[in-house]
Amino acid sequence: MFLKSKKILITGIANKYSIATGIAKAMISQGADIAIAYQNERLLKNVKKIAEELNVKTLIECDVASDASIKKSVEQLKLEWGTFDGFVHSIGFAPSDQLVGNFVDVTTREGFQVAHDISSYSFTALAKAYKDILNDKSALLTLTYLGSVQTMPNYNVMGLAKASLEANTRFLAASLGKDNIRVNAISAGPIKTLAASGVKNFRTMLSQHSARAPLGRTVTQEEVGNTAAFLCSDLASGITGEITYVDAGFNISAMPLNDDKVD
Ligand code: NAD
Repeated sequence: MFLKSKKILITGIANKYSIATGIAKAMISQGADIAIAYQNERLLKNVKKIAEELNVKTLIECDVASDASIKKSVEQLKLEWGTFDGFVHSIGFAPSDQLVGNFVDVTTREGFQVAHDISSYSFTALAKAYKDILNDKSALLTLTYLGSVQTMPNYNVMGLAKASLEANTRFLAASLGKDNIRVNAISAGPIKTLAASGVKNFRTMLSQHSARAPLGRTVTQEEVGNTAAFLCSDLASGITGEITYVDAGFNISAMPLNDDKVD
């Protein structure tokens, strides 16, 4: 129960397949008190069902595209909890036309702006908005992907937004360190979720991943959740500004060993 007495806000739950749902489960099993911030009314039915299953009482609307919505969520959380111990930013978005085809041909100024605003700036925006009600020893966590440092088909501008998000993690860690607030990221392997289904040929990413990863498979929501729980706990008190890969080792492997045909 290494998260006992920690109050953590989780964003990014759209449905039961969301990585954030796995994180909420793992944190609850380690004793955390959880509140869920959902994007909008459209998702509320799904989110309510998940909250009931997890026995989570506090649901807060927060659309990170809107400063007014973020501000309102702070007021609500203040009323509910007063202060709290950290949040999980599990949010990413790019318009669907940006995630199909050749990068240089499909990327637009608007697509670029939206991807960076929702997928990276929103982490800073939430840190800024919640900073004053975060307790000593709080932890912030975001979710990134290998497309930040390596190319792959169709991931396109999301790769650039994830590179920004990873730099954001380091700058926030430096900025909030004096307040004893830690900031980290998990770079997760591909998992079938709503956001992932927006990337063309996502199934190929899954099969290529299993073929090349040292563990010979993809990862589960539960594995990402357990790492998230650790990183947001005092067990990780010496870790900040880090990108932790939870990807069955895919990022360290240039070629699968079982493809080695040399005698
Ligand atoms: P998901 O679709 O379940 O979650 C994405 C979430 O982003 C949704 O809950 C959605 O409501 C939220 N969101 C989008 N725009 C928002 C806005 N304006 N305001 C508030 N919330 C908003 O998919 P997921 O795969 O669980 O994605 C969570 C995070 O994990 C994303 O940052 C994604 O890039 C990252 N990630 C996913 C994978 C993967 O393979 N699924 C791998 C590595 C990293």
